Amino acid sequence: MLKRIGVMGGTFDPVHIGHLRMAEEALEAFGFDELLFIPAADPPHKTEKSLRAFEHRLRMLELAVDAHPKFRVSDIEGRLPGKSYTVITLGRLQEEYGPEAELYFLVGLDAFVELDTWWNYRELFERARMVVLSRPGYEEEDVGLFLARKVSPFYEMDRNCTSFTHPTLLPVYCMKNTHLEISSTLIRRLSSRGRSIRYLVLPEVLRYIEKNKLYRGLSNPVQ
Ligand code: ATP
Ligand code: MG
Repeated sequence: MLKRIGVMGGTFDPVHIGHLRMAEEALEAFGFDELLFIPAADPPHKTEKSLRAFEHRLRMLELAVDAHPKFRVSDIEGRLPGKSYTVITLGRLQEEYGPEAELYFLVGLDAFVELDTWWNYRELFERARMVVLSRPGYEEEDVGLFLARKVSPFYEMDRNCTSFTHPTLLPVYCMKNTHLEISSTLIRRLSSRGRSIRYLVLPEVLRYIEKNKLYRGLSNPVQ
């Protein structure tokens, strides 16, 4: 039996309702059997000192997905040695789930248009179907432009502009999701200034942040 697995990678510093709502909408649209949240342990893009510890980010995700029947958290990037590279992680997941699993990699438009800075990024399009989530401030037309310029000129867009197919690479889908202008950066910034982050994160996550004073007095919350 074919299994559809959604995969959402990120730093999740912290996980917020934007992530959760996007995951829920993708789950509903694609009928995933499971949706995995994968916190990056040591992302090449962000220096480690500017992130909260992997254990904190993992724990907040666990608290956030606990009540959802299909959401899971994977610590796979904490278990793999060295830097976290998404292509490697996707390869490992395919091995773990077996050939009958179809992987769908969920990525926000802001991250998608920078995929060419990721290690071996072209291989991502062989390992997982990509689901691009729109995000306020980013243009959806950029998906087609990026694919044509940076991946392959042979991607073809369907009439509704919702998917791109290719003779050999896996398809890329564009989600028409709810726009929520929420980011972890916003939450770190508010929290570091002693402002409220209630309703931007789940209550369990809010309690965890407060108990561990995760973002209090950060000198540079943008990091
Ligand atoms: P930061 O501000 O620290 O970069 P972030 O809110 O962008 O945090 P990440 O952990 O960087 O969160 O993002 C993980 C994934 O979720 C990325 O693919 C990102 O584009 C996507 N994402 C995060 N927030 C939203 C949102 N509000 N709408 C759509 N996609 C989102
Ligand atoms: Mg981000």
